[in-house]
Parts: sequence; C-alpha cells; structure tokens
Amino acid sequence: MDRIIIKIGDITKENVCAIVNAANCSLMGGGGVDGAIHRTGGSEILQECKKIREHEYPDGLPTGECVSTRAGNLASMYVIHTVGPIYHQCGEHCDELLASCYTKSLKMADTLGCKHVAFPAISTGIYGYPKDKAAHIAYEAVKHFLEGHDDMEVSFVFHNNEDKAIFVNTIKEKH
Ligand code: ADP
Repeated sequence: MDRIIIKIGDITKENVCAIVNAANCSLMGGGGVDGAIHRTGGSEILQECKKIREHEYPDGLPTGECVSTRAGNLASMYVIHTVGPIYHQCGEHCDELLASCYTKSLKMADTLGCKHVAFPAISTGIYGYPKDKAAHIAYEAVKHFLEGHDDMEVSFVFHNNEDKAIFVNTIKEKH
C-alpha cells in the first residue's frame, strides 16, 4: 500500500504530526523507544503523563490502550503513548492487544487531526514479541485502518536494517 512508508531511523527525529511511543503502563518513561522519546522530548511530556496518571489512569494505562500528549522538543506535534503486550504474559490475547495498540493509536491520531503517524515496532524490544509475528499484526491493523481513512498515511520506523528486513519479508510472504 502506497500510504505505508517503511524506513530505518530514529523515531524521535520523525517530522510527522504524531509519533507513537511504545510506553509502559506507568507512563513514567523507561528504556528503548520510551527512554529516547522522553530524553529528546524533554520534561513537558513527562509532566503531561503525570497529569494523565493523576486524573484518568491512577492505576496505570492498560495494555492495548493509548493516550496523547504534546511532544515537547520533538519535531512532531503529538506523542501517542500506547502500552504493548508483554509477550510471555499476554497468552491468547497477545495478537488482539498488539493490534489494538495500532488501531487505537490511529483513531486517536485521526481525532487529533493528524494525517501522518509514525510507529516504532511496538512490543518487539524489551516486551519480547517475535518480530515476524508482530510485523504481520502491525501491517494488517494499519492497512485495515488506512483502507477506511484515505487521507492518512503511516510510517513504520525501524531502528536497524535487520528489523526492517524482517518486516518487509514477513509482509511479502503473508500479503
Ligand atoms: P517494547 O517495550 O514495546 O518492546 P522497546 O522500546 O523495547 O519497546 O522496543 C520496541 C522497538 O523499538 C524495538 O524493535 C527497538 O529496537 C526499537 N527502537 C528502540 N529505540 C528506537 C528509536 N529511537 N527509534 C525507533 N525504534 C527504536
């Protein structure tokens, strides 16, 4: 699909309306993409996350859900924080929860008026999701959403060539 862009890069540098953060339920920052986004974006993001925790999600953001903040010093306007499933804990709900991260983030972006959204490979780092399985789910969910929203486009931003290759090969095999 020509409204899906697949690239290698650092998602914190993406100059799009919204980037998606592979957050954890605390919304207080962490390692991987989450750490990079908070480090580069600065304290405005964490301040907003703290308010969200206080007012909307005192027990933390559930897996598969998302919230948005502004993006501080980042090039994007918004950060959409979503919590991916932890692969060895999500059991039979893994695929559904991972798909939900993508679909709900895109719905939120649409509500924010964002036409271009960049995603990292949610759950494929510390959360241990097999990269080929995650690729299939991510692509399916995004393609399905974009089919109903023909003014939107999505970038998948991979950290390295190998991760990008796994994604591209999985899509070629399965689609
Ligand atoms: P999770 O906890 O959801 O697994 P991680 O941040 O550990 O999230 O990793 C998700 C994916 O993001 C991994 O494939 C990792 O290599 C990649 N990643 C890490 N930092 C960046 C970055 N700055 N830009 C894009 N992708 C990144």
